[in-house]
This record gives sequence, C-alpha cells and structure tokens, in this order.
Amino acid sequence: MVSEDRAAARAPIRTCVGCRDRAEKQELLRVVVDGSGPTPGLVPDPEGRLPGRGAYIHPRPGCLDTATRRRAFARAFRQRGPLDASVVRRWLEAAARA
Ligand SMILES: [Zn+2]
Repeated sequence: MVSEDRAAARAPIRTCVGCRDRAEKQELLRVVVDGSGPTPGLVPDPEGRLPGRGAYIHPRPGCLDTATRRRAFARAFRQRGPLDASVVRRWLEAAARA
C-alpha cells in the first residue's frame, strides 16, 4: 500500500466507484463493508481507520446512486448479494446539510 507521507509530492489518487472520476483521496469518502449484521451493509469511514478493503466515492448522493445502480460496491467488495447503502446515504445527507 501507499504510505501516507505528507512530504510526498503527489497526493494519493483514488477512483470514485460512482462516476468513475479520479480524485485525491481526501476528496473522497472511504466506504467499507460491515458484515456483522444479518445483511452486509456499507458504512462510511471518513477517518479512513476501519480495517479491510475500502472503496472510495465522492461524498454526494448522485455518485452513491450511480454506484448502487451499477452494483459497483458489490463488485469492489467482491460480494455476490446487494449491499445495504442506507447508512452511507444518511451520512451523505447529513454531510450535505452541514
Ligand atoms: Zn463520483
């Protein structure tokens, strides 16, 4: 993995799973899967601290809609079934109001 060296000239770049645009990592919201419940769900990880595989998305509902429609999260996390995105959606809506 890329180390987070602040002295690095180039910021880490990630691809939004919604619109597929590339952006600096800190402009994107990291999302991970919480598989502890009855159905696996997506959880936002704005601090980038949760373990496991992460996917990145612009923090806006439009990109979440696109990603959900394309099942981009299921692909990114190698899940067969759908992933519940309601927690991420609420997070994005709260962030938009803030
Ligand atoms: Zn996007």
